[in-house]
Parts: sequence; C-alpha cells; structure tokens
Amino acid sequence: MTYKYVFGPVMSGRLGRSLGLDLLGGRVCSMDCVYCEVGATRTLTCERAEYAPAQDILRELADWKAQGLTPPDMVTLGGLGEPTLNSAMAEVITGARVLFPDTPVAVLTNASLMADPEVRRELALADVVLPSLDSLVEDEFCAINRPCPGVTPQAVAEGIIAFRDEFKGKIFLEILLAEGINDSDENLDRLKTFCRRLAPDRVDVVTLTRPGTVKGVRPVDGAVLSRWRKALGAGETRDEERREPAAATSDMARTTAFVQASLARRPQTVLQLAQALGADEHDIRAAVDALVRAGDVVAAQDRGETFYHGSGHVLES
Ligand code: SF4
Repeated sequence: MTYKYVFGPVMSGRLGRSLGLDLLGGRVCSMDCVYCEVGATRTLTCERAEYAPAQDILRELADWKAQGLTPPDMVTLGGLGEPTLNSAMAEVITGARVLFPDTPVAVLTNASLMADPEVRRELALADVVLPSLDSLVEDEFCAINRPCPGVTPQAVAEGIIAFRDEFKGKIFLEILLAEGINDSDENLDRLKTFCRRLAPDRVDVVTLTRPGTVKGVRPVDGAVLSRWRKALGAGETRDEERREPAAATSDMARTTAFVQASLARRPQTVLQLAQALGADEHDIRAAVDALVRAGDVVAAQDRGETFYHGSGHVLES
C-alpha cells in the first residue's frame, strides 16, 4: 500500500521514533512561513474542515501496524500543513490510541487556532503538544509567518497560555529564528516574559538548516542561537530528524519510495537523506537520480549545496 498520510518513522530528539500523520494531504495552512520546508502554502486559511478524511488516515495507520514493524515511540500529527485545521483531528487522535494503545500522541502546531476553545479541547486529547511561536512583535510575526488575516501574535500567545491551564500533558515550545527578521532584542524580551508565564516543559530555539520557501532567508549564527537559548533556558540543539533506517528494507523500490516521501516534505541533500535513512549514500544517489529522471524530484542549489525536493515543492524567487 502506498501511503498518502502516514510517513516515517522519523528519529526525533524530542519525540524518539516518531511515526508521522499528515492531516491535510496538501499544502493547506493558516500560515505561509518564509522558512517552511514543505514549500509555499497553496491554501492559506483558518477555516477548519476535514481536509483529509479521518477514516482514510486511520486505514493507512492500521495497514502500517499490520506490517508488524516495531511500534513507534510516538504517533505525531504534523505533515504538509497545520494539523488543527482538520476538523476531524479528535477522531484521528482517538483512533490512533485504539491502534497503538501504548504509544503517546503528539501534535506539531503553529498555534494559530489555539485561541479557539474547541481546538484546545481537541488538542488536550494528545500527550505532547509542540506549539511554535517565532515572534511576539507584530511586524516580525507577519514577516516570518505570513499568517491568515486576523491571526495576531498576542492571540496566539494567549491561546497557548490558556491551553497550559487546561492540559495535563507536556508542552514543548519551539522558536525559529531567521536573521534580520525576528532575532531582535525586543522579541527576545517579550518571549522571555512569555516563557516565564507559560513555563513550558521544554523550549527549543532553532534556525533554518535547509532552504525555506523564500530564497535569501538566512539562518542566524551560532552566537545568536546560544544567546537566545541561554536567555530562554532552551535545551541544546535538537537532534536532526532521521527516517527509519532503510536497512529493514534492502528493496530499492521501497528505499526510493521512502526518499520520495521524505523529499515531498522537505528539501535535503543526498548525504542528509542517507544519514536520515541510515542507508548507503550510493543507494540514495541512485534512488534520487531515478526520481529526478521520472520528474518526481527537482534539484536546487542553495549556499553551494545541491538540495532535492519533490516537484510539487515550490520555492518563491
Ligand atoms: S512551517 Fe508549518 S506553519 Fe509554517 S507554513 Fe509550513 S506548515 Fe505552515
């Protein structure tokens, strides 16, 4: 069975072996972040709908389970867009629990809908929620996240704070910094105050490691990252997410399918893919070359390196 909604597992420093569920099935998001690794948002909306049917997602998850692979450490809702936009999110979380009763569920969210009490009630069904909040300065927030009209950093922050009071699980806050966009002292001061109020279980301050949606958006340097991490009490660099070793699958077709699924979600070099999959670089090169020949994958140069991405991943000029 070829999966449309299930991907991974991915090795994550924060979540362990995490099996991903995409709740959108396409580039539907309430933001269009300049650093987004899955490409430009095609449908920018705050409208909740069943963009991907819960039954289809759970059918794929059941099929994945039936393969008898090692169960993941975490089932993680994320993927090609903002998972809380799917109005059937609660059904997906509940269904995942039935299929994997011993596996916690995590949700990666841009927090834009957390001002909505119904969204918070549904998110509270998860075990770990990972909201991102890149800036509390309105201009910076708009510049880096390019949200739906009406989404303000203050409303996002208050939604996360309200959730803290209602939620028994863990909150891992993520802040992504881009040079000259949201790395101001004013933002750092405001986020410091916010983190004191929120008291999240973990804070991760990260920067771009791969090309984003908009060319020319740059990562901050190591000194800036260290200063922010220290000021916000953030942990060390999170581990790079890595795909399940392809050793389980010496089958080239399956490796190619893993590579294609991975590149559909974020641009990577051949070396990054090989490390992520725990596979031989030559095998990955062969799979990438085959995908390029088939027109499923496209090469792009960024800072002297060749990145590959799914042909549907659109970079803005
Ligand atoms: S980074 Fe996340 S929130 Fe931002 S556009 Fe991409 S999917 Fe949406």
